[in-house]
Parts: sequence; C-alpha cells; structure tokens
Amino acid sequence: MVLIDERGIVTRFNRAAERVFGYAASEVVGRNVSMLMPQPYRREHDGYLERYQRTGEARIIGIGREVVAQRKDGSTFPIDLAVGEFITAAGRGYVGILRDIYERKRQEEQLRQNGEELRLIFEYAPTAILITDLHGQILNANRACCELFGYSAEQLSGIRHSDLLRPDDRPAALAGFERLRRSGGSEQRELRYLKADGSMFYALHYAATATAAGGRPLMLIVEIVDRSALYEATREAEELRTRLAHVSRIGTLGEMVSGIAHEVNQPLTAIANYASACRRMMLAGQTSPGEMLSILEKIAAQAERAGEVIRGLRALAKRGDSRRQPLDCNQLVREVLRIVEFELRGAEVALDLRLASRLTPVLADGVQIQQVVLNLIRNAMEAMGEAGSGKIVVVETEQTEPEWVTIRVSDRGPGLSAEVARRLFEPFFTTKKHGMGLGLSICQSIATAHGGELSYRRNEWRGATFALRLPAIAGEGEA
Ligand code: ADP
Repeated sequence: MVLIDERGIVTRFNRAAERVFGYAASEVVGRNVSMLMPQPYRREHDGYLERYQRTGEARIIGIGREVVAQRKDGSTFPIDLAVGEFITAAGRGYVGILRDIYERKRQEEQLRQNGEELRLIFEYAPTAILITDLHGQILNANRACCELFGYSAEQLSGIRHSDLLRPDDRPAALAGFERLRRSGGSEQRELRYLKADGSMFYALHYAATATAAGGRPLMLIVEIVDRSALYEATREAEELRTRLAHVSRIGTLGEMVSGIAHEVNQPLTAIANYASACRRMMLAGQTSPGEMLSILEKIAAQAERAGEVIRGLRALAKRGDSRRQPLDCNQLVREVLRIVEFELRGAEVALDLRLASRLTPVLADGVQIQQVVLNLIRNAMEAMGEAGSGKIVVVETEQTEPEWVTIRVSDRGPGLSAEVARRLFEPFFTTKKHGMGLGLSICQSIATAHGGELSYRRNEWRGATFALRLPAIAGEGEA
C-alpha cells in the first residue's frame, strides 16, 4: 500500500510495498511516486494528477486497472492497481493498493502456451482426427482430416460424423457411437468413408470418449486411418496369387495332357500301323489266317495297353493323396471365408453367413472340401460379376438329417439355363471366355469320392444354389 499527497509525494510506504519493490520506506517516502513506475508513465504521472485535480475526470481513481511497476533494481512487473481518494486536515491524498499479479500473469501465459501447444498438436498431427459432440455433430477437424476427405474445416464442422460414412456402414457405426455415448470407453472398427469427390475408402476408425473429471462423457475423439493403400496392396497380392495358382494349375494340366497324349498315342499309332499292314496284305491277296491272327492279337494287345493307361489315370485321380479325418464343416467354411474375404470385399459382394449351431462331424479330406466350397463361392461371385448392387453370397451349413451335413452356397446371379444345368458337371464344359470348365466336375468327383453329392437348384432369387451333401460320421455326437 502506497499513500501519496495531492502533489504525488509518497507519504507512506508499507512493509509489503517494501518487499515487492525492494525499496526501504525511507528511500521512497518524501519522493515522487513516479519513481515506482517505468517510462513513459514516470514522465507522465504528474500530468495525470494535475489533470484529475483540474477536471475531476477520473482515469484510474475509483476504477483500478492493470499497470506496470518498476522495482528498485529496474525490473518491471505487472500489478493490479486500485486507487482511492481521501481528505484529511492536511489536505487531499490518494491511497494506492497494489496487488502483484506477476504469478497470475505467468500462469495465464503458461495456460495460453499450453493451449496453443495443444492446438498445434491437434492441427498438425499427421493423422486425421475429428472431434464430435456426443451426438456425432462434428466440432472440429484437423488438417490431415480435411486433406483426407477433401472438405474444409468449415464444411466439416457443419455436418455429422455419420454423414461421412458409406450409407450401408452407418447403422453399425451409429450403434457403436451410441454405446460410447452411454458407457464411455473406446472402440475400434473398420468403416468405409466417402470423400468430397464421392470416392470411397477403407479406414480403421478409433473412437474414444473424453470425459470430465466426474466421469461424465463430454465429446468423442475419432481418429481415422486410411487403409486403402494397404487394401489395394493386399488385393493386388491376392490377385497375383490367384493368377499364379491358375497358371500352375494350367501348367500341371498341360503337362498331364501331353503325358496322356504320349502314353495313348503310342499304342494308337501301333494299332493304326498294324491295321494298315493288314489292309495291304488283304488287298495284295497274300493272307494266311495265321499271320492275320497274329496281327489282330497285336492290335488287341496295343488297345489293351491304351486302356491300361486310361484306367491308371482314373485310379490316380481316385486315389489322390486324400487324408480323411473327422471334421467340423463350420470350421472348414470359416477357414475358406478367411481366404476369400478379400476377394468378396474387392468385388463388393456381401456375405451372409448362416452356420448351423450344431453339426455332426464328417469324415473328410479338409483341403478337398474347402476346394469345393472355394470353387462354389468363386463361381457365385463370377455369376454376379456384372450385377450392380445387392450382390450377396449366402453360405450356410445345415444338419439336413441325422446322417447328412449340407454346405450350401447361394447367389443372386442369373442362375443357369436348362442347357447349362444339364451339362454343368461335364469336364471342360464352360460358358466363360477364360473358363476351364473343370471346377464343377472336380467338385463333383470330390463329393462322390466322399460318399456325398453335389447338386444344383434355382433359388428364390432366381440365382444358383449349390449344395454339397456329405455323410456324417455314424454314432458321433456334435462336433
Ligand atoms: P468354369 O468356372 O471354369 O467355367 P465350372 O465347372 O466351375 O467351370 O463351371 C461351369 C459352368 O457352370 C460355368 O461356365 C457357368 O456357366 C456355370 N456356373 C457355375 N456356377 C454358376 C453359378 N453360381 N451361377 C451361374 N452359372 C454358374
């Protein structure tokens, strides 16, 4: 507290003032109060006093404000100054009550800096972040987020988070947000978003509730990680793998065919040679029954050899290196789906999976059964290739009877014409430009080899349903 007279001369300087300014009262009392101020206030203070006394127009008296003071060592500091006026017998005087607000100022500055730092972290974070209220209304979006979507921050702050999602992903996402709103916590899910230009991308989305001190949810913080590059790379790798598998299948088939051709060709050539020798001899009239008999026997032997080659091939096809064991068809189906998941997603085909809750195990070669299911799903996808939306593959398992388990694959493609349906399982029958026409015939032989069957019917969407029926293991319980 500092008291001055009407000329501005310090009349009292209390202890606290001594501590704050670093002056002893004796150094200040009797001198002009302006010594406690830095320039330009120091210079102008007498003028202020004079003007107030002349005009009565208060600039600070009775009002108080934040000013700068100067310590004995010359350093300055902010103070909150309140000035009051009083009259005594000695005349008019003023009392100044000074509050050192250095600490408060410092804290304010620190807070401002912290706030600025947080703002910068949010704004320049290399990952897209959205802040929404509990109802999904976007409150703020950072730079990376605007760049990702191609919207400005203003455009984004006018809409809801769910407006950015592909319509068919909205219900699931909204259910998730609702859960967060009610019980807080965080979640992670895969979602498909739409950019300003209408293009779609896959993203991994992390959302967390920010809560107040009492645990009350305040807002949602959403991080959106664009995964399209990853999906693209995986899809390409998958495509390459499929192509390679196809090439190697054609390769083995090519080898097999030339092997078969060679094996069968030899006896056929021999037969043709013997037959034309016979013909020549008959035309020349030089036939003896003995000679004819011997040539005919040779022809029969060669024909027998050709037959053996064919029988051997069939035996080979039958034997394979099949390993049978008790298997759960649900498990087999789930594994296959893991393989085709990417293809389905890439072709925008939705999967409707209906697994029976209880299934008796089947005695089967898992790889072969999976090959059948895989083939049926790929055929279904190809059949719906040109269709626009509504591409769905239904994969279901069912305990058809106590002793039969069925795996069914249905699509919403065009189905089969009567002609195609009739020739469906013929080897090399295909309607596709690059088809081999072997898929279904191999599937059928696998089904038959397992004591089961593969059948086709037209389904309620007029698409195709293929059913693989396999005998369950007698006397076994559920898998
Ligand atoms: P590929 O697929 O190489 O043609 P497949 O033996 O697997 O050989 O199929 C034979 C033919 O059966 C196909 O060319 C196609 O015309 C028809 N087909 C198979 N599955 C379906 C289906 N789900 N919907 C319509 N047609 C199908």
